[in-house]
Amino acid sequence: MQYVMALDQGTTSSRCILFDRSGNICSVANKEFRQIYPRPGWVEHDAQEIWDVTLEVARAAMAKLGVTAKDVAAIGITNQRETTVIWDKETGEPIANAIVWQCRRTSDIIDGLVAAGHADMIRARTGLVPDAYFSGSKIKWLLDNVPGARRRAEAGKLLFGTIDTWLIWKLTGGRVHVTDYTNASRTMLFNIHELRWDEELLRLLDVPAGMLPEVRPSSALYGRSEFELFGGEIPIAGAAGDQQCALFGQCCFEPGTMKNTYGTGCFLLMNTGETPVTSRNGLVTTIAASAGDGVQYALEGSIFIAGAAIQWLRDELGVISTASESLEYAVKVADTAGAYVVPAFTGLGAPYWNQRARGVIAGVTRGFGRAHLVRATLESLAYQTHDIVRAMERDSGIPIAELKVDGGACANDFLMQFQADLIGSDVYRPRCIETTALGAAYLAGLAVGYWSSLEDVKNNWAVDRVFTAAMDEDRRKELLRGWAKAVKCALLWGDED
Ligand code: ADP
Repeated sequence: MQYVMALDQGTTSSRCILFDRSGNICSVANKEFRQIYPRPGWVEHDAQEIWDVTLEVARAAMAKLGVTAKDVAAIGITNQRETTVIWDKETGEPIANAIVWQCRRTSDIIDGLVAAGHADMIRARTGLVPDAYFSGSKIKWLLDNVPGARRRAEAGKLLFGTIDTWLIWKLTGGRVHVTDYTNASRTMLFNIHELRWDEELLRLLDVPAGMLPEVRPSSALYGRSEFELFGGEIPIAGAAGDQQCALFGQCCFEPGTMKNTYGTGCFLLMNTGETPVTSRNGLVTTIAASAGDGVQYALEGSIFIAGAAIQWLRDELGVISTASESLEYAVKVADTAGAYVVPAFTGLGAPYWNQRARGVIAGVTRGFGRAHLVRATLESLAYQTHDIVRAMERDSGIPIAELKVDGGACANDFLMQFQADLIGSDVYRPRCIETTALGAAYLAGLAVGYWSSLEDVKNNWAVDRVFTAAMDEDRRKELLRGWAKAVKCALLWGDED
């Protein structure tokens, strides 16, 4: 067996990567699929199309390398989280389009739960801040709004799954209905301490227990792919949500280790070991992917606008023509001339949680120009990350040792150096930044013995570059004071008049 297959089912595309034992990328195939926006604020995917596209990229990646099923030791799945699919157990037909994590249509359901005083209970059991983002209210919406769905669900004729569950069900020809702990922990229906579906939450959201998948560890033999799909049966042996997979792919196995993914938004996750840490600083508690039968927990903080602010410079302001050009402008000037950009375009996430905050450019003087603007925007990614890192330290009581990075914008050397300077710790950029897919491959490969231990996997982690904190303390404090003032302006903007 030469390869492990990772199926990376993202929000806009499905990707398949075949990895070898050293964690090298040997073959990649990628395909986008349709985004469906039936109304403002609503986002849907066609689950059947997701399956078709995923199967297509899996076959394409194998064909590129000329491999057959017997060359593939296992399949690992990583997926866009929270997105909700409901389908007919007999026919396999989805009853409606999948409701995507970004979709806001169930905000009213959540407002109702909060108004009825359930927020603390939800938080205590699921680790989550009640929000339309998670799957629970999406299931309720589908059962309440698709004609006949509730009756069929109660009669045991419908199944629910997040995308991992849906793909495993399709890969096994409808024989296996499972999810993993990490995906279950994003449904707002799963008790993350007792590791079971929570009856009270199921009752509050009117979800019949019979439609829920069995919950298994992230690294386990779930089943085998149907022979016809790849001309052989391949073990399906790993599954976890995308951010948890990235944490695992970065080899953050010990408490206190953390990674930040710099994509459209940023997702920071810190492994907190066997202890679920309750946040007092606006972070969520979630289950991390782990190789054994037990579970590990993580603290998670998300930033809504990160790389998207660089796209804003490019697409709306036209001050740069490519994202990577931002580096050239940033290093043309020694600083931002005392100004700050707070890209709170859709409010501010952790640790502020203010939906009404709006973007500001603060502290502008006559000398402030294009290069300063680009630099200040890049720096905003690092400031926002800094705020979450400090919140994680306060919540966990664990001082950060180092920050591992991935995602598109981690290619920016200026940004990474500034990040190290601000948090006062080293920033490690690995050679392989496809950490999400790699994490899924590791989970599956460990379950079937392709890799023998976490140590074995860790040996594959190779650094591309370390950015060492070099800024003096006074300067750091001065910059952070200015940032805190700029954030106040963004928050103030959202205040009622
Ligand atoms: P996603 O998975 O969220 O689509 P990616 O990990 O592919 O995101 O990263 C793309 C994001 O990173 C874009 O928002 C882009 O603006 C930003 N980006 C890409 N390259 C750079 C760069 N060199 N400097 C700064 N930002 C960058």
